[in-house]
Amino acid sequence: MAIQATQTANAQGAQRLVILGTGGTIAGRAAQAGDNVGYVAGQVSVGDLVAAVPMLKDLLLDVEQVAQLDSKDMDFAVWKALAERVAFHLERPDVKGVVITHGTDTMEETAFFLQSVLKPTKPVVLTCAMRPATALVPDGPQNLSDAVVVARHVGAQGVTVVCAGQVHGADDVTKVHTYRLDAFDSGDAGPLGCVEEGVVRLFRPWPTGSVEGLLDTTVRDRVQASLALPRVVLLTSHADTDGLVVQALLAQSSSGAAQPLRGIVVAGTGNGTLHKHLEAALLEAQAQGIRVVLTSRCVRGRVLAHPGLRLSEVSPLSPVKSRIALALDLLTS
Ligand code: ASP
Repeated sequence: MAIQATQTANAQGAQRLVILGTGGTIAGRAAQAGDNVGYVAGQVSVGDLVAAVPMLKDLLLDVEQVAQLDSKDMDFAVWKALAERVAFHLERPDVKGVVITHGTDTMEETAFFLQSVLKPTKPVVLTCAMRPATALVPDGPQNLSDAVVVARHVGAQGVTVVCAGQVHGADDVTKVHTYRLDAFDSGDAGPLGCVEEGVVRLFRPWPTGSVEGLLDTTVRDRVQASLALPRVVLLTSHADTDGLVVQALLAQSSSGAAQPLRGIVVAGTGNGTLHKHLEAALLEAQAQGIRVVLTSRCVRGRVLAHPGLRLSEVSPLSPVKSRIALALDLLTS
């Protein structure tokens, strides 16, 4: 199925929603009902997840299982299949929006990928759970119900994430907690809104496009035609580090690796500072034609460019999203 370049504007009165399943803890099963952490993700079908939410019973829904995995194992093949299915359904005039059930671990990356590749003018809402479907008090049904509320909201558009009653934009959302039900945060930007008793309260506008300057319009076609994203690795600067990993990557790449290194994203300390040994190795990589992008390992804020920065590229996104943005940019350049 080809990824379509545009979505038709919301047909007047379109009511149908499509719910796509990809696995995650929301579809997880544990041997004991009281066990919220010792479960296997991606076990329960999306059809069963939908059937477990009484509020969805009278809605026009199409349900489709696109994948069934623990999102820690998310990869380009699943992203590509997901983007294709989302684009296909958004093209249908009778479809108001798409909801995706997903694991929490990489949900922010999938959201950013879909927003970057599709820039949908209809809502695409990812949702999840921190407790498995078998938990005594699972959070998945409420999150799924809230996600449907967001997808049905008049005027909703772009890729969002719904968890614990909050609505986050794809560019800003990050998983910030290992265990709490309210595991996501949108940093300085804050959430887009919230869902209160089945009603969306919006704090700021819906996402309309991806981060300026990082992507071009051919990205969807390139994604569709590619078997893999260009190889971009993510490194972190920290105390007592060196440049050995970078040197090893350069050596491996110049020895004819099947998938050569094209880029490095480095999560610097603070406002993009780097350990001097790592910085020296990264400057060498840059001199050899590898794209090196600087971001920060701080959970809040962004790297503010200043004359002291020696790397030529800086990203305002989180390290994992900067990696996707660079890979997509390399794909189109
Ligand atoms: N490892 C799980 C996943 O990402 C965690 C979760 O969904 O909460 O699929």
